[in-house]
Amino acid sequence: MSALDELKATHAPLHELTATWQDGGQISFDELRALHDRAVVAAHRHYCETIASYRTLASDLALTECRDADVIRAELSSTDDAFKSYDDAWIDAGDYTAMTDWLRSVCSTPITIDPTSITTIQEWLDALEAAGLKLWFSSGTSGHLSFVPRDELAARSLDRQIASLMGRVLRGPAAAARFDAVLMSFKGGRQGLASAADKVASVTNRQTFLYDFAITPDGVRAAAKGDPAAAADFRRRTVDELPERYEAILQALRRSAVDGRPALMLGAPFQVADICQRLEQTGERLSLDPGSLMFLAGGWKSFAGVQLSQPELLALVADRLGITRVLESYGMTECSTQMPMCEHGRFHVPPTLWPMVVDEALRPIDGHGRGRFGFSDPFATCFPGPFITGDEVELTLEPCACGLSGFSLVGGIRRLPGREVKGCGGVMASVRG
Ligand SMILES: [Zn+2]
Repeated sequence: MSALDELKATHAPLHELTATWQDGGQISFDELRALHDRAVVAAHRHYCETIASYRTLASDLALTECRDADVIRAELSSTDDAFKSYDDAWIDAGDYTAMTDWLRSVCSTPITIDPTSITTIQEWLDALEAAGLKLWFSSGTSGHLSFVPRDELAARSLDRQIASLMGRVLRGPAAAARFDAVLMSFKGGRQGLASAADKVASVTNRQTFLYDFAITPDGVRAAAKGDPAAAADFRRRTVDELPERYEAILQALRRSAVDGRPALMLGAPFQVADICQRLEQTGERLSLDPGSLMFLAGGWKSFAGVQLSQPELLALVADRLGITRVLESYGMTECSTQMPMCEHGRFHVPPTLWPMVVDEALRPIDGHGRGRFGFSDPFATCFPGPFITGDEVELTLEPCACGLSGFSLVGGIRRLPGREVKGCGGVMASVRG
């Protein structure tokens, strides 16, 4: 059996465990561990065969023949720098031949495009997508973008897992359709929040977007780098037109209230705060249908000077919009799933992901506890899956009162000192002005 086939053979049982987990069933820790160990060893063989940068690292450590899952996770996890390990000057110079060569070194999929006439990042993404490789981008405050490649198989895995988590909340396609989607994001674009908004839009039958056009990596990069000249049109449509765009969001919410249809809102915490504060200024209160839902995305890291605490925002949302069901999840572009937050404030790790915490030397700590969050993702079939984030968490196997079994993160998520603030919230904040 090829290494990739061996890796893919773990997917069906992991999906089955996830279905049991979602229904509140108990999953076997030993079975979960055995599946993930098998997946990591198969993935290691696959990456050694097909990803040049990974093979070089494994070879330097004399680990290309390693079949020990713990050693592979400890020695061969990449950090969040890996997906931005290109030279930013290449983009400034429009050198997409160099960018393509870099992408080849971190991706298992053969890349066949001719990059010589490409002049923008979006054109590069479009050319890659036409050749069967989708490239997700994310940005930190520095504007040095991260790129995560997904071929058809990897993109399908991501889509399936997000759809399954969303289905649990929305309870089936028929129920989902009755929501009015009010999406404080872009309409399209390969960025986390925009992808989530697209997914929500696809299952509802009335949608309003804050930005009714796709997010582009060129615009986000220029905005984050504080380069208004390079992003004049993007800034005009995102920053200068923001008051009218917020008004369109409010109009959509008023319409849902009048029609008695539940709203399904999606936005970063500071955007939701902006909307509520606009209502506060005019003394307006919306009584949305009690079945309305809000997905908060992008995290609580402080952006653009917004200092509202979570309880303060939830109180504001209940008061001004009448929405009491507020959901959150934790995830990142480099990961094929999301970790939903339960009513007890824990982020639960779906069985499709194997979580770990590492110490300052990036070695997994024994057992569980507090440390830098990492994971191995067996659905990362075309880029290295063992990954260490820049976030500090507390990982536990202690049961949660909500009934979901398996691993969870308790006590919130903190960005490690020295790591740039990153996430969908950062992307949205960079276009706030
Ligand atoms: Zn819970």
